[in-house]
Amino acid sequence: MEYKEERLRLINSLKYQGLSQEILDAMYRVPRHLFVPSESQIDAYVDAPIMIGQNQTISAPHMVAMMCDLLDLSEGQVVLEVGAGSGYHAAVISELVGESGHVYSIECIEELVNFSRNNLKNAGYSNVTVIHGDGSEGYPEYAPYDRILVTAGAPDVPDSLLNHLKPEGILVIPVGFYFQDLYQIKKELDGSISKNEKGGVMFVPLIGKYGFNMKS
Ligand code: SAM
Repeated sequence: MEYKEERLRLINSLKYQGLSQEILDAMYRVPRHLFVPSESQIDAYVDAPIMIGQNQTISAPHMVAMMCDLLDLSEGQVVLEVGAGSGYHAAVISELVGESGHVYSIECIEELVNFSRNNLKNAGYSNVTVIHGDGSEGYPEYAPYDRILVTAGAPDVPDSLLNHLKPEGILVIPVGFYFQDLYQIKKELDGSISKNEKGGVMFVPLIGKYGFNMKS
């Protein structure tokens, strides 16, 4: 099943949120049902998060769209995503940065590294690289990045991520435990940082060196 009608209905329902046509078109091109467990495919075009195993979720489509909007993505950009999960958000970003851009998506849970890699391959995305590691430390190999996206709630804004951002780059990150404030952070040409709060959100916690300690 291709779920084209369901996908169109979802995209039409997002139209009223002031999103650009580029974002809506990109989301229409990504088959979200290929990024969820097979038993959840029927729910893939409901605007809600879905469990993907390991107690983690694929974010709700309106949240993916809103974060892409805050990232102000364009052709050719190199993007770091922290928290690959299902690979869906990386696929939407890949559509927006095009063949000349690249998405590096880092995921700390091995099962989800494999899940997201398989999903991206099945959906035909070749300009997304999923890396197994702790994204709270950033990923120096391909830094600096034009854009950085964190898809889990962080205790604070890690310096590592700010250091891996290009001048005139944008970092989008939820900060807080359980409920978060979503921040759009801009690094100016002179290296100074401006921080804009964009409302309340709810994400699973960022773990790792600069994340929450979930063991205690
Ligand atoms: N972007 C994902 C998608 O499109 O499906 C949704 C991500 S889910 C809300 C958050 C993800 O962040 C989880 O897969 C979780 O394992 C991952 N995560 C949490 N802390 C991390 C860390 N320090 N480094 C890398 N991934 C992390």
